[in-house]
Amino acid sequence: MEYRNLGGSGLFVSSLSFGTWVTFKTQVDLPLSAHMMARAYERGVNFFDNAETYADGDSEVIMGKSLKELNWDRSTYIVSSKVFWGGKQPTQMGLSRKHVIEACHQSLKRFGLDYIDLFYCHRPDRDTPILETVRAMDILVRQGKILYWGTSEWEAHQIVEAQELAKANYLTPPTVEQPQYNLFERQKVEKDYSSLYSKYNMGLTTWSPLSSGILTGKYKNGVPENSRLSLEHLAWLKDHFFNQERKNKLEIAHQLENISTELGTSLAKLSIAWCLKNQNVSSVILGASNMKQLDENLDALDIIPLIDSSVLEKIENVMGNKPSSDVNFKAF
Ligand code: NDP
Repeated sequence: MEYRNLGGSGLFVSSLSFGTWVTFKTQVDLPLSAHMMARAYERGVNFFDNAETYADGDSEVIMGKSLKELNWDRSTYIVSSKVFWGGKQPTQMGLSRKHVIEACHQSLKRFGLDYIDLFYCHRPDRDTPILETVRAMDILVRQGKILYWGTSEWEAHQIVEAQELAKANYLTPPTVEQPQYNLFERQKVEKDYSSLYSKYNMGLTTWSPLSSGILTGKYKNGVPENSRLSLEHLAWLKDHFFNQERKNKLEIAHQLENISTELGTSLAKLSIAWCLKNQNVSSVILGASNMKQLDENLDALDIIPLIDSSVLEKIENVMGNKPSSDVNFKAF
């Protein structure tokens, strides 16, 4: 395993981490969760991602029970949660001081832990002043209930505002952003967030490296039984891939598979390793729904050396979606 600094912080996070969205409860039950976490940990993973909304809180309960069973030294692993969608009432969602603090207390209870290492604002909240959220996070840090905090899918200007407000008010700034990043989704990570790395030393823990499984090539002949896109409650996700963008994304995945075959590897491994080539990424959060997938995805580390400039060029030729660099208008 490779360990990378979480942005400018001193925290070392494994470059591949373990995610639980959709999988815990729907696809992975309690005994399997402990087995999968144990396998990940044995292979060097030290970061386990969660959120208050995953399986309506049950994902944290399952992770907490697994951690209790595994009985690892608390100082050897990092657990995250995210606050935003905590319930249907107006006081149970968003990033008000009330919800941020209550959500943290509830997550701690579900996990059975004394503190959460990384606590993310799962989305921006247009109804709450950013300063209120920054203050709430600072309170939790000072109380030792969370160690670092971050954002997820915030716009660059919102993160800059949080950074500047924290600085001006002597509050703890966000350390990390959690955006989607994969071969299809590149704009935020590769362009919009540029100043966040250079000016604010932000780290990234990125999600959906396989675009929910599309970047494994498994959907080329339709939707396999028991796969994520066959789940009833994820019909919206299936529509997203299979109506608007179906042809395009499946065709692209097929072309990418030719590159992975040439390299003697799988498209899943190539796609994950490609994310890791970006040094602004601190950790790529994996989303395996069984042990076989987990093992394969962790093996992605081995193929990073194979992805040289000629392979990257072949990938760019298929994708054609590299965000443009800033234009030097003086050259016109
Ligand atoms: P992926 O894009 O990697 O998708 C995971 C899905 O892909 C699995 O459920 C599985 O689907 C399929 N898959 C994974 N590995 C393989 C393989 N080797 N071969 C075939 N199929 C495979 O990741 P996620 O979308 O799950 O995102 C990763 C994590 O990021 C989440 O678990 C969560 O912790 C976090 N996340 C954060 C978000 C945020 O807003 N901050 C949003 C979404 C995720 P199948 O069910 O078909 O087996």
